[in-house]
Order: sequence, then C-alpha cells, then structure tokens
Amino acid sequence: MTIESDLYHPGHYDRSRPVPSYWEATGGPPPAGVGSLTGDITTSIAIIGGGYTGLSAAYHLAREHGIAAAVLEAGPIGWGASGRNGGFCGLGGSKMGYRLMAQRFGTAETRCFFEAQKAGVALVRSLAAEEGIDIEPAGEGEHYLAHKPSRWHVLENYAGTVQRLFGERWALWRKPELEERLLRSPEAHGCLFIPHYLGLHPLRYVRGLAAAAVRRGASVFERTPVTAWQRTDGRHRLVTPHGTVTAERVLVATNGYTPEGLDPALHGRLLPALSSIVVTRPLSPDEQAAQGWVRPALVADTRNLLFYIRLLRDGRLLFGARGGTDASPAAFARRRAWMERRLGEKFPAWRGVGIDYAWWGLVCLARDLLPHLGWLDDGRSTLAALAYHGSGVSFATMFGRAAAARLAGREPDPPLPDFVLAPPPRFPVPGLRLTALRAAYAAYGFKDEWL
Ligand SMILES: Cc1cc2nc3c(=O)[nH]c(=O)nc-3n(C[C@H](O)[C@H](O)[C@H](O)COP(=O)(O)OP(=O)(O)OC[C@H]3O[C@@H](n4cnc5c(N)ncnc54)[C@H](O)[C@@H]3O)c2cc1C
Repeated sequence: MTIESDLYHPGHYDRSRPVPSYWEATGGPPPAGVGSLTGDITTSIAIIGGGYTGLSAAYHLAREHGIAAAVLEAGPIGWGASGRNGGFCGLGGSKMGYRLMAQRFGTAETRCFFEAQKAGVALVRSLAAEEGIDIEPAGEGEHYLAHKPSRWHVLENYAGTVQRLFGERWALWRKPELEERLLRSPEAHGCLFIPHYLGLHPLRYVRGLAAAAVRRGASVFERTPVTAWQRTDGRHRLVTPHGTVTAERVLVATNGYTPEGLDPALHGRLLPALSSIVVTRPLSPDEQAAQGWVRPALVADTRNLLFYIRLLRDGRLLFGARGGTDASPAAFARRRAWMERRLGEKFPAWRGVGIDYAWWGLVCLARDLLPHLGWLDDGRSTLAALAYHGSGVSFATMFGRAAAARLAGREPDPPLPDFVLAPPPRFPVPGLRLTALRAAYAAYGFKDEWL
C-alpha cells in the first residue's frame, strides 16, 4: 500500500520536509515523549493519524476510559491539516446549511448537531486550560462578511434560521457599523457576528494535545507510516517500516490524507480538496489603520469558495482560500500569485505588502456534505472519524472524544445525531471525483463573482 493518495501530485504527500508555514516557524518545540516505532507491540486500540482526531481519541481513551491506545502518524505530529490550518476554532464539521439539515433530518437532530458543534469549541478551550497548552488565543467570534451588497440577504437568512431553530440571536452589522467596529474593504458590505469562535495557533494546539495524550498514558509514534494492514483471527496487524502493531480495534483518523488503499471499506467515499494560505509580513499600526482593521479578529465571507482571513497577534494578515485541483509545484506558484493579487483587491491599502509564508493542505469532503463517525465493518472493530469539510479544529477534537467513547463501548457524550454515526456514502463514480470537483468550482466561482 502506498501512503500517497493517487488523487493529487505525489509531492504534496512528501513528509520528509516541514510544511513551510507561519505556524511551523512559530510553533515551539515538538511534543515531549513522542518517537518513532521500532519493534513489534500489541495494544487494544491502534489509531492511524496523528492530528486532532487521532490525538483527541487517544487522550480521551486514556483519561475517560482507562485505555492506553497507540497512535501512528506517518509524518511529524500535526503534519496533516491539524498543524497547518487557519486556526479558526468554531462551528465546524459540515457544509450542509442548518435549514436543509432540519428539512432532511428534523429539528431535534439538527439541534443535537448544533449543540455538538458548540461542545467542540468548549472542549478545545477546556483541554487547553486543563493541560496547560498555550494555544495563543487571538480573536473571539467570527465576522461573516457579505462580499457583495446582494449577499446581505444571506446573512439575514442565516441569522433568521439560527434564531428559529436554536433560539440564538446573532448580531447583524450594516456596512457603516462594520467599518466602525472592525474593518473597511470594497468586498465587505455588512457582517453577521457568530459568537462561537476563537482564533488559535493550530500547530501549538496539536503538539500540546500529543504531549497531553502521552502524559495520560497513550503511546504516540510519529514518522511511523502504516504501509500494510493485515487482518487475521479477528485481530489487526498494522505494518510500519520498523515495527508492527497488533490491535483488537483500529480508528482511522486520516481525514484528507487518507490513502486510497488504506481500507477497501473507505475507497471512493472521501474527496480531499485543497485549501491555501498566505501570511504577510507584520503590518505596522499605521498600515493596519489604513484598512481600519487594528485588532486580532477572524473573518470569513459569503463566497461558496470561501475566503478566510485573520489579523494575527503580531500584525500579520493570514489570508486563506479554497479551490484548485492541481497540487503540483507549478500550480502552487500560480496559486500563491493569485492569492497575493486577490489580497490586494480585497484590501487595497495592503497591496504589495509582501508575503512571508505560503502553503497549502488537504481538507476532506463527503458526498453528503456531512462529517462521519462510523464503523467500517460488521464486527465493529474498525471505526472511521473524518470529513470535516475544512472546519475540523473543534469538530475533530470533539469527534476524537466521541470515537473514544464508541471504541470503549459507550455512547458519545454529548450525544451525536444518527446522521453522522455511519461511514460516508460512496461517490457514484469515484474515478471522476476530481472532475466533478473542478466542475463544482467553476460553477461556484461564477456564482460568487458574477451573480
Ligand atoms: C489549509 C487549511 C486550512 C484550514 N483551516 C481551518 C480552520 O481555520 N478552521 C478549522 O476548523 N479547520 C480548518 N481546516 C481543516 C482542519 O485542519 C481539519 O479538519 C483537521 O485538522 C482534521 O484533523 P484530523 O486529525 O482528522 O486530520 P489531519 O490533521 O489531516 O491528520 C491526518 C493525519 O493522518 C496521517 N496519515 C495518513 N495516512 C497515514 C498512514 N498510512 N499511516 C500513518 N499516518 C497516516 C497524515 O500524515 C496526517 O497527519 C483547514 C485545513 C487546511 C488544509
């Protein structure tokens, strides 16, 4: 089995070099107590993937169920999306709107999902506090901007749905209020303030989670890719370059980096998608004032191909965007140039300020636009927790805890709606996933910019 998915350029999966991110440059030391596997071990639960999902599962298995699991991560801890994301910790997991969710699954199930989303954010906060993880919090709440005057109704509809379904009132700011309270931009025409968000340092968080899992009794191995998976006599044998792990049960926590050949039960059920980030040099207080944005804050916009933007604690601007289906180095150079140009269009006073860091990574989509925590076999010995649709900081942490409960034979607390407790559905023609994604991007791009 190769650990590179054949969907994207093989260079994207090269774990021998660090991700050239701002987080990597400021992420502090690697977690204590983590090494590579050498030799053969036996454990009750093995976890493939050392990001938020896998590490949160290992942490909670030890802390809440007294089970010492073994985590196997192919790269350094947090090498996947968990160490390189935008650090928006908020209402995550799904790409399906609440209104459609309520039509399809009913109000009670939708409320259950919303409560689980909020519990995810609370869990990250409490883990950081209890385990002494310096997540460098910066910015409370998300400012959801109408990127055109015509998108004001999107904000109003969203606020109305949330009030009707969950009884929550979120503040709407018209353009003048937005300009007074946060920022000015030719692509900002009002905002919905979503309270359940905080900004954090994603790599510090995932490294802290790994160290906490080890302190609680888990074994965490990095640079330990699973290259073969054998099942004999009801047990699992995971083969890595310098050792094996024999386990009764396995958690698949590989999200957008799931190798196509990892488990046949997952084949054709996931669609990894690129998300890219650039970070500027620090902007001086005068430069910040030129766009009226002078404090750390989280911003996203109403585009289908979402822009996500943060002013960081040291005055740098982090600018992120979804899109693209070619992960080759040449495509990356084009993407970076496009993002620099778009940043200048969105914030004219910051045009040409200079980019210090640029990187990208894979998020994970499912055909039904929902996250999934499901058994992959009838014997309930393999569980998968994945498909967070580009918002997994809190949700993967919460799913890791819920996975721990399921692996320990208990019900997740808080409860999860039934519609996430199953494997993701298969794409009708898996071989055409990227073609379909390209077509969807073209349609979304047209809608976002021209309608
Ligand atoms: C650029 C970018 C920006 C994002 N921004 C945000 C944001 O602001 N807010 C938010 O909520 N979410 C964001 N996300 C999404 C979020 O980062 C993910 O949903 C979350 O990190 C998923 O965590 P995970 O542990 O499930 O998967 P990952 O962190 O991706 O970890 C999976 C791991 O599995 C490992 N693996 C794969 N195959 C094997 C194998 N065979 N053997 C051993 N290990 C293996 C990989 O090396 C990888 O490290 C972003 C993602 C990206 C890429």
